[in-house]
Amino acid sequence: MEYKDIIYKTPVKHGLINYENTYKDFNWKNINRYFDHFSGDGVNIAHEAIDRHAENSCKDKIALHWEDEDNVKKQYTFSDIKRQSDKLANVLRNLGVEKGDRIFLFLPRVPELYISIIAIAKVGAIAGPMFSAFGPEAIKDRLHDSEAKVLITTPELNQRVDEIREVLPALKHILLVNAEHNLKKDEISYESETNKASESFKIRWVDPEDYLFILYTSGTTGKPKGVTHVHNDMVSHYITTKWVLDLREDDVYWCTADPGWVTGTVYGIWGPWLNRISQVVYNGRYDAEKWYSIIEKYKVTVWYTAPTALRMLMKAGDKIIKKYDLSSLRYICSVGEPLNPEVIKWGLRVYNLPIHDNWWQTETGSIMIANYPCLPIKPGSMGKPFPGVCAKIINAKGKELSPGEHGLLALKRGWPSMLRRIWSDKKKYNEYFRISGWYTTGDTAYMDNDGYFWFVGRADDVIKTAGHRVGPFEVESALVEHEAVAEAGIIGIPDTERSEIIKAFIVLNHGYKPSPNLKKEIQEFIKKRLAAHAYPREIEFTKDVPKTRSGKIMRRLLKARDLGLPTGDISTLEE
Ligand code: ATP
Ligand code: MG
Repeated sequence: MEYKDIIYKTPVKHGLINYENTYKDFNWKNINRYFDHFSGDGVNIAHEAIDRHAENSCKDKIALHWEDEDNVKKQYTFSDIKRQSDKLANVLRNLGVEKGDRIFLFLPRVPELYISIIAIAKVGAIAGPMFSAFGPEAIKDRLHDSEAKVLITTPELNQRVDEIREVLPALKHILLVNAEHNLKKDEISYESETNKASESFKIRWVDPEDYLFILYTSGTTGKPKGVTHVHNDMVSHYITTKWVLDLREDDVYWCTADPGWVTGTVYGIWGPWLNRISQVVYNGRYDAEKWYSIIEKYKVTVWYTAPTALRMLMKAGDKIIKKYDLSSLRYICSVGEPLNPEVIKWGLRVYNLPIHDNWWQTETGSIMIANYPCLPIKPGSMGKPFPGVCAKIINAKGKELSPGEHGLLALKRGWPSMLRRIWSDKKKYNEYFRISGWYTTGDTAYMDNDGYFWFVGRADDVIKTAGHRVGPFEVESALVEHEAVAEAGIIGIPDTERSEIIKAFIVLNHGYKPSPNLKKEIQEFIKKRLAAHAYPREIEFTKDVPKTRSGKIMRRLLKARDLGLPTGDISTLEE
């Protein structure tokens, strides 16, 4: 489904000014000159993201504006973050942490989380951020698989670790934030140790290929994989942040993602700080009014969020938007799931700004396909490959397909932030590269004649019905255009006659009630809007659709529940 009705272009004076020329001449090696230490004597991303700014005239620039649900506020300059991460790095070194050790983080979005990730990089260890909502099983899987040596958490969250502690022999120390008393064996107070520690720390210079972080994928399609990245990722982090998120020195940037999801680590820590940007962190649950008040209060200029959040804001209605002054906003980006054209249209109307969709994965380590300020947007398209990234649509044999043909979305291997390892699973790692020369993404897509990429679906989610292949996204997008529909999840269910039929799970907007008539009306709407073969023969009204903690619709769970099959790994399910 291609929408040609809105084509929007912003006049551009900064950042990526001419996409075509830049794409033609781009060489990743030229990005190294933006860093202090890329000369062969060792690098460290923490030096480039924090220390170098803290050592020059930007030392007093705010790196972090922090606020939580109880309206507690804190501010940290680049030199504050340097000092505090140096202290923590000394604590870690004194505990015997060495290069390559895994240190996991099980914290809400508190400042200590951000400081810890910097400190871990400084000692050359590998950080493993986890969502604070994880239950014992999810924590156990990750700590066990990675053989984490240290865990940084809070006393409250640590209760969930107590239950599984005995199956984690590699775990030597637990650093507790906000716990001065009643510490058990192997537990250490974060505050008392850092208070005692020296402010002077000699950073560990590492090889660009040394590991930096492990992030387990969102678990949308199956068991999460321990995707491992290296310091060299900084090359991609830096330049994609500059050109896709369009960040400049005077911006106030808000990435709504938690560092437990790759977006929150790469574009909520490394990307903005490598670019010396002031960023906002809100440690609290989604709430439409609260979110708008954050934009108003901090005068957020650039906002990076996800389709699910945008759909929730759309559902919350236009009235509340009028209560807040959102005039500081100048640029909005979205990632994580297909961005429905209807949401873009709504954004244009209420924020007076287009929303720029972009596509990437935990494995790719940085944005690969994007809409840029200098290019028109085709709503529903993920945009064009980032300079230095060669994206193609191929078939299972590696043959490149023509524009318009649906196939596997694949990338020529070798960009700086490509995954280097699946922790403890070499076989899984090799599967990504089974087609010679290519990294295969597991997503199905097509490219149009102008070189724009359109997402069709996860390879496993594409529905085969009566000889047609239907991507769930196009049906979901058409459904949310109906005034009664707030959200929709689409699956294929087995059918003897048609091989599969389309089933829709629908969450209704306020003021609408489920009824057979409404079902019929929605079905007719899709037949007209999309195609007769693509309408959902079955519709189930539901209160919500299951999502991962990173906000993605878990279609495999909808399907398993519907068909009474085993639900598989649901450690990342948002409850
Ligand atoms: P798992 O691999 O464990 O199933 P996951 O793939 O959801 O989890 P992530 O790495 O967080 O884990 O998500 C990457 C995937 O998210 C992509 O492969 C794609 O399917 C989807 N995605 C991300 N951005 C977009 C986008 N802009 N449009 C469409 N899909 C997107
Ligand atoms: Mg994936």
